[in-house]
Amino acid sequence: MAQPPPDVSEDECLPEYRHRFCPDLLRDKVAFITGGGSGIGFRIAEIFMRHGCHTVIASRSLPRVSKAARKLAAATGQRCLPLSLDVRAVPAVTAAVDQALREFGKIDILVNCAAGNFLSPASALSFNAFKTVMDIDTLGTFNASRVLYEKFFRDHGGVIVNITATLGTRGQVLQVHAGSAKAAVDAMTRHLAVEWGPQNVRVNSLAPGPISGTEGFRRLVGSQAGVGTKTLAIPLQRLGNKTEVAHSALFLASPLASYVTGAVLVVDGGAWLTFPNDLKLLADFASFSAKL
Ligand code: NAP
Repeated sequence: MAQPPPDVSEDECLPEYRHRFCPDLLRDKVAFITGGGSGIGFRIAEIFMRHGCHTVIASRSLPRVSKAARKLAAATGQRCLPLSLDVRAVPAVTAAVDQALREFGKIDILVNCAAGNFLSPASALSFNAFKTVMDIDTLGTFNASRVLYEKFFRDHGGVIVNITATLGTRGQVLQVHAGSAKAAVDAMTRHLAVEWGPQNVRVNSLAPGPISGTEGFRRLVGSQAGVGTKTLAIPLQRLGNKTEVAHSALFLASPLASYVTGAVLVVDGGAWLTFPNDLKLLADFASFSAKL
């Protein structure tokens, strides 16, 4: 059986496996990646760079993206510009895109990966917590997409990859905020693909399942016992890794997907088809949070 591609659990660059890279695939392209300083966004930046791309990685914490950019540039030999922004603030997004355009003269790819998530029953979720997740995931994705379209993609074409999730597909417990936010982004993907297709802008979603070695996964399962048993409910019988998600983002961003737009690529080992939507989790969660 084929082995899954390698991964490392923290935000470190991969051990060398150069023979798997094709540096011409994204040669001299420039990708702007929100949330690119950690987890899945970090690995997407690394895989893009190993395929010839330069990157801009942007999130709220400048120390975090600066440290990540140093690692990424050293490991790949490509340029990586770290920028601080909050995707909820349009002026900050505009300033960051302007700075990236000054630095590189163009942006070919936008990856909307910034997001916030946690577990909470709907009845215990504060109104502000729901709004915050909608603001970061949904409005943040629109803000970055709209600013980039106006500043560059409208006249030059481009590619947008929105990192979403399968949570809303069946209505996962404890996830009304993230499921709603990501479902709205998948709808946005289709709307923008239709409206911006004539300007040669492709827009797709990539929906990961449970991905090991990520902050998102730690937060979502940290409180739950029996993750091993749940993993067995995934058709491929294991968690995914960040490298596998990044390879799928690479496909969507590259000319290999030149006729793909308005699609949601699910990268979850088949999990959404079979994963238990366990109501008992609600009770387990309540007893776990009571001990905090
Ligand atoms: P992560 O490491 O926590 O990544 C989230 C990133 O978003 C961080 O780098 C964070 O950096 C940035 N961010 C958060 N709020 C922001 C804001 N307001 N403005 C700008 N940047 C912001 O988590 P991850 O698990 O790798 O998740 C990455 C993506 O994959 C997310 O879209 C997530 O929903 C999706 N996903 C993950 C999984 C999984 O199993 N991990 C499953 C399905 C979907 P700062 O704190 O510096 O701002």
